[in-house]
Amino acid sequence: MSIITSTVGYPRIGKNREVKKALESFWRDELTADKLLQIVREVEETSWKIQAETGIEQIGIGDATLYDQVLDWSVRFGLIPARFQPFTGLERYEAMARGKDGVPALEMTKWFDTNYHYLVPEITSDISPKADWGDFREMVKRGLTILGKKAVPIILGPLTLLRLSRLEGVNLGDFLSKLLPLYSSLLTELKELGIEEVQLHEPALVFGDAPSLKEHFQAAYAEFAQADVAINLVTYFDDLGETFPWVIELPVAAISLDFTRGRNLDLIKTYGWQGKKRLGIGIVDARNIWLLRPQQIIPIVSEIQALVSDISLQPSASLQFVPYDSRREKHLPEQLRNVLSFAEQKLQEVNFLAQIIAGNNREEALTEDLITAHWEAFQKFSTTNDLVEEKLKNLTVKDFQRSLSYSLRLSEQVALPPLPTTTIGSFPQTQEVRKLRLKYKQGELNQTEYQKAIDAEIAKCIQLQEEIGLDVLVHGEFERTDMVEYFGQQLVGFAFTEHGWVQSYGSRYVRPPIIYRDVVRNAPMTVREFQFAQSLTKKPVKAMLTGPVTIINWSFTRTDIPRRDQAFQIAIALREEIADLETAGAQVIQVDEPALREGLPLKVERWSDYLSWAVDAFRLTTAIAQSQTQIHTHMCYSEFGDIIKDIERLDADVLSIENSRSNNRTLQEIAQGGYSHQVGNGVYDIHSPVVPTVEQLISQLQEGTATLPLKQIWVNPDCGLKTRRWEEVIPALKNMVEATKKLRDELNLS
Ligand code: GLN
Ligand code: ZN
Repeated sequence: MSIITSTVGYPRIGKNREVKKALESFWRDELTADKLLQIVREVEETSWKIQAETGIEQIGIGDATLYDQVLDWSVRFGLIPARFQPFTGLERYEAMARGKDGVPALEMTKWFDTNYHYLVPEITSDISPKADWGDFREMVKRGLTILGKKAVPIILGPLTLLRLSRLEGVNLGDFLSKLLPLYSSLLTELKELGIEEVQLHEPALVFGDAPSLKEHFQAAYAEFAQADVAINLVTYFDDLGETFPWVIELPVAAISLDFTRGRNLDLIKTYGWQGKKRLGIGIVDARNIWLLRPQQIIPIVSEIQALVSDISLQPSASLQFVPYDSRREKHLPEQLRNVLSFAEQKLQEVNFLAQIIAGNNREEALTEDLITAHWEAFQKFSTTNDLVEEKLKNLTVKDFQRSLSYSLRLSEQVALPPLPTTTIGSFPQTQEVRKLRLKYKQGELNQTEYQKAIDAEIAKCIQLQEEIGLDVLVHGEFERTDMVEYFGQQLVGFAFTEHGWVQSYGSRYVRPPIIYRDVVRNAPMTVREFQFAQSLTKKPVKAMLTGPVTIINWSFTRTDIPRRDQAFQIAIALREEIADLETAGAQVIQVDEPALREGLPLKVERWSDYLSWAVDAFRLTTAIAQSQTQIHTHMCYSEFGDIIKDIERLDADVLSIENSRSNNRTLQEIAQGGYSHQVGNGVYDIHSPVVPTVEQLISQLQEGTATLPLKQIWVNPDCGLKTRRWEEVIPALKNMVEATKKLRDELNLS
């Protein structure tokens, strides 16, 4: 039997966000390219050293990046769409990442079911791949110097690269045959540099459609087997599903699987293992921030060990999804901090497990006794007497059902002109507004002063919307930094880190809240601002809440109770808020759920379970609303074709969607799906600074009226306006209202 320890990726943003800071200075021309690259290398080498010092034996190297590792591989294989050809070097890289001189960037999308976003490679028929991996070679040399034999280069596997690409007029198999010689020569080159093993990351194997890639995988890996360098085929985020029997036959030295998600253990028990291969046991959860519980993990490892003799213990995926070091969160109560585990702690956990499994009793940073003591202390600290469990248990069908059905309650709700106009909630978050919040946070403004300043913003915003002539107004969300954080900070049960940054994309990092105990609402969270806004106008002001599913999907959640229960707890808290908003006079309330769709599990067979509780959580939140109250929801980047029935089951009165960038596909899906409630058809793209003309807006609106009955249609931008400037927002909304009025006239509706 042999046991080693490995990693398959590490945070690369810098403990103090060095990479973001350097990158942004570089973009502002305040830092040279050399200095930027030096900073990235320093961050990378520091992380190598930490992994080595902790005792990790096989350290994944090569995942450090300026912006995105998928983009890095696009560049290394020469997958450069024509529009970027005029640029070279770092300029080209920047153009591909964020667009430059009017050249639009590559599209960005979510990396599997994580909250990380990668840049989608574009492969057109005029592209022939070519090797451009000087940076990788240089990195490997440094890795060998610093880590010696411990250095294991990470390479994005060819099938995952292609599966994630946008192929235009190109056949996957044909393009694969052009790529394979490049991969092979990369492997040979690495061998010549002194590398004995590489990791080929192929998470595409966990997608539901992976079985269709069987022949391609077999062809590719048969070819790589010639290269005489050991290959660890690394997968994560879910199980191998149907591909298991043939994947374990691929000619590689090792296969790494995720044992924190999916049913890989069952698959091994069913199909057995391929005797000679090493199994990478991804058992330390790379997607969550809790200290491991040995009683839950060790039995799993023991079970695997009975079936496989050569194993490696490792995190379930790259540690890029967790922050660096929980010990830095000094402001958090000790009982909580001690059960948090960020990247550095996870390295210790890997080691700890290896020691236990090997039966060694070395002095370790972590011991079973220590872990038990930490969890016991936390248990005492986090137990609640708030009857949350009871509230959940006592829920009945009625709590999920509005008192009247949609068609009956419709006539009771606020009367509005045909094609009512509104916005999605936020208005520009200017430098001044940010400063205001910062001053309040740092104690330079007291609460009264701060609220007065926020109210001044609200008043300006209401007046402006009146002038523009919108029908349903909003208060503007000036008091909110982030749509999840704002609620988390006011609810019991959420903790916030100071240094807990994780990369969302490129230079954008987020600090996800941590749900650590039962969620309880102690006081109203949004009523004051709503009430003030409504007092300024006779038009209805739409109150704004973030929905339970979005809060769950953008937070680190507990592992001791199901996500469903956590979503329901939040739903109960939000329900109380809705009741208070109604008492304060709200006739229209929006519950945003932008993350509902993106929370879908990777494998379709698990969708219905997720959708069932996610939709229930939304219903639980909103069913308390009186039938007179109009409930809106908003979702961005939505594709609804396959989940239209679930969207319908949300039972929102009005649904606003992103539409302008999807060429009205979403709208058509909604119409074809027979959706009968109202739809806010996003009429222009707020992600772009371009102000839409009245003509463009009219034609967009006409698409709507041609697709759906008039009484179902609302008019609004496709998302919140917080990232835009007033100079863009004001003319755009004016045009939107003018276009609507023209169309009303044309249709004789006025
Ligand atoms: N109400 C939020 C806003 O307008 C919605 C944002 C979102 O869906 N991402 O900013
Ligand atoms: Zn949105």
